[in-house]
Amino acid sequence: MDDIGSTRSRAALSGIEQRVLAVRDDSLFDRESHHIGGSPSGIGPRGLPVCTNCHRPLAFALQIDTHDSRLGIQPWTTRHLYVLTCPSCDTQTCDHTHYASSRSGRSLRLVRQPAGHVIDAEHPRTWPELRLEILEDAEPAFDGPFHQWGGDPIWLGDALEPSCTSCRSPMTFVLQIDSEPENGVLFADHGMLYAFACFRCHQEVATIVQTA
Ligand SMILES: [Zn+2]
Ligand SMILES: [Zn+2]
Repeated sequence: MDDIGSTRSRAALSGIEQRVLAVRDDSLFDRESHHIGGSPSGIGPRGLPVCTNCHRPLAFALQIDTHDSRLGIQPWTTRHLYVLTCPSCDTQTCDHTHYASSRSGRSLRLVRQPAGHVIDAEHPRTWPELRLEILEDAEPAFDGPFHQWGGDPIWLGDALEPSCTSCRSPMTFVLQIDSEPENGVLFADHGMLYAFACFRCHQEVATIVQTA
């Protein structure tokens, strides 16, 4: 790819103004708002899709309340954008898990789970319920944690730019959440969780975990 092509491809993925996210241990927060762990607002206990690779339900990592105007995004199909991952497969396939909301909006359906080795290691499948705060800062502290909304992803491995399986558009990077073990936030072996969304058809999300 030439320089102009790669600049264009980066621009297509850099649709959201960058903000730093912070993880807060605050038991009194609004469960409808942005948070890690706990349960997804409006999605029932059987509303999470099953991974076609390992046949276990995808794990709910976090949600973003898309009605928050500070996010700088267009309206999403459902009020919340849910970030799911398969802890048994997510670091093994080097490709994204794609899922979307069902018609009712009360469950999520798997669109594509790449095939790969299923790991035996017991990576966390649940996380403590923690508030996610959007800070005014645009750059994370130099020593992390690298929780980020928008901007460009900080890849721990190869850069991966997913396309929506429904409309074929390049997907927009929405967030990354770093492992923060002191708060119980751990993805695989100190990995980083990345999420992309399609802002053309407003329904498909793609996620991946990378480790250094
Ligand atoms: Zn799996
Ligand atoms: Zn799409």
